Amino acid sequence: MWDYSFEVPVLMILSIILVFFFSRPRLPIRRNRIFLLMILVETLTIISDVLATTADINYATLPIVLVKILNFFYFAAFFVRSYVMYLFAACVLKDKLEKNTVLRQFIRLPMYFGVIMALHSMIFGSERSSTFIYYINETGYHNGHMYNLLYICGLYYVLLSFISLYLFRNSLGKRREKYSMLLYNLTLLAALVVRFALPKMLIMDTFIFMAILIVFLAFENPEFFLDLKGSTFNAYALGERLEEDLEDQNTVRFSPFGVVVHNYRDMRDLYGYTHMETGLVLISRYLRQFFPEGNVFYYRNGRFVILDQTASDHENISREIHERFKKPWKSHGTELYLSVGVARFETIRPLHSPQIILRTLVRALDNVGESGQEMFVTEAELQQTEKETAVRASLEAALEDKTLDLFLQPIVDTTTGKVAGAEALSRIRDAEGRIIPPGVFIPVAENSGRINELGELVFEKTCAFIRDHDIEKHGIEWINVNLSPAQFVRTDLAERYSSIVEKYGIDPGTVHLEITEGSMIDDSFLQKQMRTMNAKGFKFVLDDYGTGYSNLARLKTCPFINVKLDMSIVWDYCKEPDGILPVMVQAFKQMGFCVTAEGVEDANMVELMKSIGCDFLQGYHYSKPLPEKEFSEKYTSA
Ligand code: C2E
Ligand code: MG
Ligand code: MG
Repeated sequence: MWDYSFEVPVLMILSIILVFFFSRPRLPIRRNRIFLLMILVETLTIISDVLATTADINYATLPIVLVKILNFFYFAAFFVRSYVMYLFAACVLKDKLEKNTVLRQFIRLPMYFGVIMALHSMIFGSERSSTFIYYINETGYHNGHMYNLLYICGLYYVLLSFISLYLFRNSLGKRREKYSMLLYNLTLLAALVVRFALPKMLIMDTFIFMAILIVFLAFENPEFFLDLKGSTFNAYALGERLEEDLEDQNTVRFSPFGVVVHNYRDMRDLYGYTHMETGLVLISRYLRQFFPEGNVFYYRNGRFVILDQTASDHENISREIHERFKKPWKSHGTELYLSVGVARFETIRPLHSPQIILRTLVRALDNVGESGQEMFVTEAELQQTEKETAVRASLEAALEDKTLDLFLQPIVDTTTGKVAGAEALSRIRDAEGRIIPPGVFIPVAENSGRINELGELVFEKTCAFIRDHDIEKHGIEWINVNLSPAQFVRTDLAERYSSIVEKYGIDPGTVHLEITEGSMIDDSFLQKQMRTMNAKGFKFVLDDYGTGYSNLARLKTCPFINVKLDMSIVWDYCKEPDGILPVMVQAFKQMGFCVTAEGVEDANMVELMKSIGCDFLQGYHYSKPLPEKEFSEKYTSA
């Protein structure tokens, strides 16, 4: 006798998941649709299983046609469910095989075949034959010879799901997601084994339910996609939706629309985090009304992005939004006065990747967030992002293969007229081997968190250069290496750099570290860091003096050995000499710093800089930065 007591609680809990799912905003993406389909098919399978089993038990009192039909529904649902369970895995894994139209039909074949066989059994299955899944006659329900097709089909889809996981595992970012998918597949396999071992227990659905619960907890909880107390979708949802929208190459209209709170960080500090959050919820509700067919996403830091495939009059909407922001955002004790920036997009054809579009969007929003203006984003901005992305790829390749080029520019001592040192400057190359200047790749390295690695690599290459060339013999006492602010704030900087100089067996005093005023954020930290580094034998040079706040009093307390005047003030002085720069140079010298002038391009500039007391000069007049080999041939041989 069949026992279906397990089915009822499963059905009840499934309905809870379903109600929860519908009670939250749902992102209209394929994965969510398939998840709903999965719950629906499972519910139908359970219901048809219970009905068919009841009919099989009471076959004597029921019309045979009804028993046959109910069994058909169950078997058909079984085959479809096997496929849908796989389909969900394929969708989460962004399985490319499933997207190929020919392959997709091939993948679906066992499901179609199973449903047809179930249909065939329903119509013709009245007596024992070799071609039926089941047959029903006056003695009731019987398994047919092809009953095992159920298991074969089930196994086929579980196997496909395992293959999909293996092939596309990298599309799952987190390890937890990979394990969840593995567990999902194993549970589906266990479901089949249990059904095979205990066909009369009807316990398979408990296992299928477990599998559904696993993916619900790992991927499908609607909260994963929400922000601002559930009033908008979040940044993660934006990425998913964008990716899916762009997949369809025939998308004719695609114009994101961005709204950002002007000076968000200042406003948040002014009003406090909680009030600001309430204000943002109000703004998101307000924005939703303009885009009934689209979705509003909150991309952190006061930035909203709206995706709407239906044509909308963005210009008018923008005007209305600006009008609305003239009034305060009010809710129980909260009253916020905010202003707004808007980024409208030209219609984008899906030629760019979702990442490029997203980055362009965020950059545009940050621009208007700062200016509080409106911006119309065109293809040119997207091209700009493409360029930056190419630079990022070149940078990553250079760091990966350590193929960064070291260039050296000589620095001349004004008293002897000879090269006394050099500055190490890095260069990377693009895919065609052309040089990318640091002005382009340093900001990219800083924004992508790779600046530490890059800085260390340049430092290490400089140490190797010093070890391999007898620089002192040729009068070169030191080589300056630039240290970016992000590196300077590392608390383990002293240890790391010490271990590198030790590795190359060189004196730390021969590599001078150049920092800009931008690194001097916190006085006490700055001094502590400089002293720790000093204790290890490192020396500091202040770079680009004259481009920041240039607080002389503050410099007095910092143990720099040298101040480099930025080329902008050097050029200004050389164009129109005044009394300020000479006084400044004298002040530095009184504080015990040497002074270097950067950007010295001709003999006249050399004379002027010498006359005001500069100790060292660096510039094209002497030499441009040279590849290390050329530099060594010119300055450290013979
Ligand atoms: P910087 O440290 O102030 O380096 C001096 C820059 O001025 C170099 O530009 C050099 O080529 C340029 N220069 C020197 N003399 C002249 C001259 O007479 N005329 C003109 N027009 N320019 C001159 P470069 O190599 O393009 O580097 C730009 C900036 O990029 C550097 O400014 C530095 O801040 C940064 N940088 C370069 N390499 C690295 C690095 O490895 N790490 C870090 N953190 N920053 C680096
Ligand atoms: Mg420098
Ligand atoms: Mg400089």
